[in-house]
Amino acid sequence: MTKQAFKILKSATGDRAVKLQDGTVIPADIAGLAAGADKWLSEIVCKCRDCGKPFPLSQLHGGGQWCEPCQEASVVDSTDVAPAPAPVDHRPLVEALMSIASWSEGNEVDGSFDEPSAAKTARAALAAVGIVGGVK
Ligand SMILES: [Zn+2]
Repeated sequence: MTKQAFKILKSATGDRAVKLQDGTVIPADIAGLAAGADKWLSEIVCKCRDCGKPFPLSQLHGGGQWCEPCQEASVVDSTDVAPAPAPVDHRPLVEALMSIASWSEGNEVDGSFDEPSAAKTARAALAAVGIVGGVK
C-alpha cells in the first residue's frame, strides 16, 4: 500500500482508526503494526487518549490508544480491583489422610490395613470439599 492521504477517525467509544483516501479503514492497533511498504502507517502520529501527547501509532498501546506510561497506569489499576481468589479449605482432606495413614501403627502398612474403611474415609472427605464420584 503506497503512502496516501488519511484522516484519523474516532468512534463513539473513543477508539481511533486510520481512514485512507481510498476509503479503507484500519484500526489504530493494526496500523501500528504495519511494516515493509506499509511502514508509513505505523509512523502516523496520534495523541494518547489520556495525556494527549503525540506518538507514532507504533508506540501506542491498548489497541493503539495510549502511550506506554498511561497504559501501564491502567494495567496497575485493573490489577488492584481484581477479586482475590477464594481460599481453598484443605482441612477435610488433611484430616482424612491423617486418619487413613493411622500413624499409631507406625510407618509401615501391613496386612491389617483396612482398605474399605480407608476408601470410605477418603470418599467422605472428597464429598466434604465438593468432589462427588471423582468429579468436582
Ligand atoms: Zn499518555
